[in-house]
Amino acid sequence: FNFGKLELEQLREKWKNFPLCMKIQYENLQKNHHLKHFSRFQLGLFLKGIGLSLTNALELWKSEFIKIMSEEQFIKEHVYYFKHLYGVVGAKINYRPYNCEKIQSQGVGHGQIHGCPFKHSDNHMLAARLAKDSVSNDEIEFILALKKEKDYNKACTRYLECVHSCQIGEDTVINHPNDYFEKACQADV
Ligand code: SF4
Repeated sequence: FNFGKLELEQLREKWKNFPLCMKIQYENLQKNHHLKHFSRFQLGLFLKGIGLSLTNALELWKSEFIKIMSEEQFIKEHVYYFKHLYGVVGAKINYRPYNCEKIQSQGVGHGQIHGCPFKHSDNHMLAARLAKDSVSNDEIEFILALKKEKDYNKACTRYLECVHSCQIGEDTVINHPNDYFEKACQADV
């Protein structure tokens, strides 16, 4: 994927085009001003993949974290982590954004919010979240049926079509969060 450089202002406008797995992390970051390790990794790599530079990423995470800690604490305890995510320190690994298969294969324990909501959320929670995005009752039933059949990517694709009023095509399914973002942005043009 090549989205070009994404400025923070654009990110704050475009986050509604995130797939549900990333929207949930982003909303929680804004609400709690913190995310646990696996959530940070999942969201952080996605943001890197859609063009957020390390400088802008540090600005974004800092702007939330310093609502519950001092700037000194953020610098001391968290800056290295995000630099590591961008492969500029430590083993300098160029981590790639996770695809759906990787996200869906993760274990998600009690109190954790990473993972794929179409796989890991219970039906009640998922239905409530879909209703919050104005997905109709009929479509919620349809998406829950796909979830029951373990067709998580098709469920996600249908969610995209409902939320962005578009058609992705019979044979196309979302298999990468960054692909979802690209298609959602195209639908919103
Ligand atoms: Fe995210 Fe993929 Fe799940 Fe969609 S199917 S919510 S893009 S992990």
